[in-house]
Amino acid sequence: MSEAFDLFVNRPAPVAPQPVNSLGRRAQNAGRIEISNLSKSYGIFKALNDVSLTIEPGTVTVILGPSGSGKSTLLRTINHLERVDEGFIQIDGEYVGYRRKGHKLYELKEKAILKQRINCGYVFQNFNLFPHMTVLDNIIEAPIVHGLLNRKQAIERAYELLDTVGLREKANAWPRHLSGGQQQRIAIARALALNPKVMLFDEPTSALDPELVGEVLDVIKKLAESGVTLVVVTHEIGFARQVADRVVFMVEGAIVETGSAAQVLDNPRHHRTRRFLEKVL
Ligand code: ADP
Repeated sequence: MSEAFDLFVNRPAPVAPQPVNSLGRRAQNAGRIEISNLSKSYGIFKALNDVSLTIEPGTVTVILGPSGSGKSTLLRTINHLERVDEGFIQIDGEYVGYRRKGHKLYELKEKAILKQRINCGYVFQNFNLFPHMTVLDNIIEAPIVHGLLNRKQAIERAYELLDTVGLREKANAWPRHLSGGQQQRIAIARALALNPKVMLFDEPTSALDPELVGEVLDVIKKLAESGVTLVVVTHEIGFARQVADRVVFMVEGAIVETGSAAQVLDNPRHHRTRRFLEKVL
């Protein structure tokens, strides 16, 4: 079912894109995400309350906050896994999940939504690999179905990605025979197979045994160097400190504080950020 709503007209002025992020990495195939006045309710509960955020191409943004603060909901709206009630998201100027006609936004049809999602890889907490497919088939499926690569090209690309995540020898394995950390690394390779401009990670290590967390974070760190725009919801403060260009702290559906990792983690301005960090550090 399509939905339409009035467009916000008083959007903040766009900020000039930065081709090089704060760590000096060069943004190549990276997307700029602009989140404008986003609100989303479940019944009477407001999960997102007027959230605005600009994410520059090639940067790493870590979203922190207590459980239930709307982090996953925000992430899910970025590739339209979740509809919004108000506001909108643009990736490189293109509305996500909607098309604009005059001052109204109309929801795209399913096919167009799926096509748009090619730009935006999503890595789930629970890996979500196809259990009935080998590792290789998991990775080649989407680029072939979307007509981006033929089978031979897709297999070549899959082996490159398996090298990136350090699991070439698992190409013919079944997901159930892999550890959680290995499954998540394959899930990352699968998301990368569509060559997305943006990669979204929804608590990518929270379903893992502690000893497997490091190998997944290492792969994400490597991606951070590759220039794709990364948005990571996580409770891994050490990872945020090491890799994030920007930390966003959310409480009750709103962003209460954002800044560099050093700013937010070492000198939090908001009392809710301080309280959260006291508990987790
Ligand atoms: P976080 O990722 O910060 O833990 P979520 O974005 O998952 O928070 O959820 C924010 C709030 O919205 C929570 O209170 C959660 O229960 C509620 N919520 C999330 N998804 C749904 C849904 N599909 N239906 C109803 N409530 C939901």
